[in-house]
Amino acid sequence: MKVGIPRELKNNENRVALPPSGVFELIEAGHEVFVETNAGLGSAFEDQDYRNVGATVVNTPDEIWSQEMVMKVKEPLPEEFKYFHEGLLLFTYLHLANALDVAVALQKAGVTSVAYENVKLDNGTLPLLSPMSEIAGRMATQIGAEFLESPKGGKGIILSGVPGVRKGHVVIIGGGVAGTNAARVALGLGSRVTVLDVNNNRLKELDTEFNGRIETLMSNSFNIATQLQTADLVVGAVLIPGHKAPTLVTKEMVADMPDKSVVVDIAIDQGGIFETENKVGTHDDPTYVVNGVTHYAVANMPGAVSQTATIALSNATLPFAKRLASGPIEDVWAKEPSLLRGANTYQGHLVQESVAEDLGLPY
Ligand code: NAD
Repeated sequence: MKVGIPRELKNNENRVALPPSGVFELIEAGHEVFVETNAGLGSAFEDQDYRNVGATVVNTPDEIWSQEMVMKVKEPLPEEFKYFHEGLLLFTYLHLANALDVAVALQKAGVTSVAYENVKLDNGTLPLLSPMSEIAGRMATQIGAEFLESPKGGKGIILSGVPGVRKGHVVIIGGGVAGTNAARVALGLGSRVTVLDVNNNRLKELDTEFNGRIETLMSNSFNIATQLQTADLVVGAVLIPGHKAPTLVTKEMVADMPDKSVVVDIAIDQGGIFETENKVGTHDDPTYVVNGVTHYAVANMPGAVSQTATIALSNATLPFAKRLASGPIEDVWAKEPSLLRGANTYQGHLVQESVAEDLGLPY
């Protein structure tokens, strides 16, 4: 199959769908790969690195999007919709439940799409979401610590505390992959850590995993409200797969938080869990203040650590990309239930029930 890899257009999105080593594997498997010029620069891969492994480097997005399959990192932006065409197979993060414009554009153009975040193994895990959740989770604590410093508008605390001075309190809502990684870094920095989740088994696993060094709590409005009253940093890390994120933190709960505390909402890519979120931040302009609390809600956090993220992402996506490229899609889906579960559109028809439900579109 002919596979195109465009340069990402999202603000400060420095990742690329595949590094040269991944392109080499696709070519070795018998496919032809086209890479847009400078697509890899943000992750320190030069055009020549791609040429050296046999890719064709092209100058325009047209020459990428006209291929049979396009592999990307983030959902297409409106300026890319004009390249959609019948027969195109798009493999990328889509987060369609929160992106009506992308869904409608895919429908109109008759595109077939498989979303990384919906590819699900038989054991229920999401192999193409977890590497980025690991990164975003670890970043969330790091970023929160930075915005707690006075010059960044914070209350002027260090999460570890020092002898004789209290530790910072990090409250993490959602104890899955992102939440656990946020907890790991928070604990490593010496913070007091509380994780809330609705899944009691997950709370038990976390208690064992962290050997009782973090506090676990059932996630409900009462516990969230109480924890937020003492929180320095709150991390949103909830996921209901395929659905928009639920609003779990109300305006009143944020108003009750100590002044100059910080929230980092990793789940913003699915719409976010804070009622106070009034925009999606970018790496250039990541924060805003509501009720005295700094909000950081950037939908492509790993884009800022592009070298780590590009390699981690492609380690996970490449085996699936190879199977998709071995096409026709109907045969691939028949053999690969995990890729069928990732289907969002088929020839322009929405085929992901949860997405259709959230968007109010026919399924
Ligand atoms: P996951 O499935 O591993 O974990 C989600 C957790 O949320 C689960 O443990 C689940 O039980 C819990 N949960 C569900 N409802 C809850 C509730 N009401 N209260 C508390 N917990 C609840 O998912 P993940 O891989 O950790 O991803 C979390 C979110 O981070 C997703 O929205 C994902 O898309 C997003 N993400 C964002 C970025 C970014 O750059 N912003 C990067 C990677 C992942």
